[in-house]
Amino acid sequence: MWFFIGDMFRIKSHRCKECGDRLNGRCDKLFCDDVCRVRHHRKSNSLHALKRGVDRVLQRNRSLLLALRKSTYAKYNPEDRAFWLRQQGFDFNFHTHVLSLQDGRMAIMCYDEGYVLDGDGILPWSDSCRLNGSLAPSTLS
Ligand SMILES: [Zn+2]
Repeated sequence: MWFFIGDMFRIKSHRCKECGDRLNGRCDKLFCDDVCRVRHHRKSNSLHALKRGVDRVLQRNRSLLLALRKSTYAKYNPEDRAFWLRQQGFDFNFHTHVLSLQDGRMAIMCYDEGYVLDGDGILPWSDSCRLNGSLAPSTLS
C-alpha cells in the first residue's frame, strides 16, 4: 500500500522539464521528446553564455577598480578617474550590489571593489567606507 502511494506521488511529479507535460514511460525520463530536450538544452546553453559574459564584465570592472584604488588613484581628480575607467573599458552598467554609506552616499560595488559617485566623478570605495564590517548585499535593508 505505501509503495503504491509513493509510486503515485512520483508519477504526479513526473513532468517534462521543458513544457511541463506529463511524461509516460521510464521514471528517469526528463523530456517528452527530442524537440523538448533540444529546446531545453539550447535555453540552458544561452543562459550559461549570458552568465559567463556578465561575469567577465564584472571581473574586468573589479580589476579596473582595484587598479584605480591601488596605483592610479592619486594621479587623477574624481572626473579624470571616471574618464580613466571608461577609457580602460569599465562598464558602468554592471555591478554586483550597492552599499549605503554612513554619510548617505551610495557605493556601487563589483564584488569587494567599488566606487562612490562624487559630482561628475568618482571616488574609489575603501575599507573606511565599510558599513557594519560587511561586504554582503544584505547590508541594505
Ligand atoms: Zn515536453
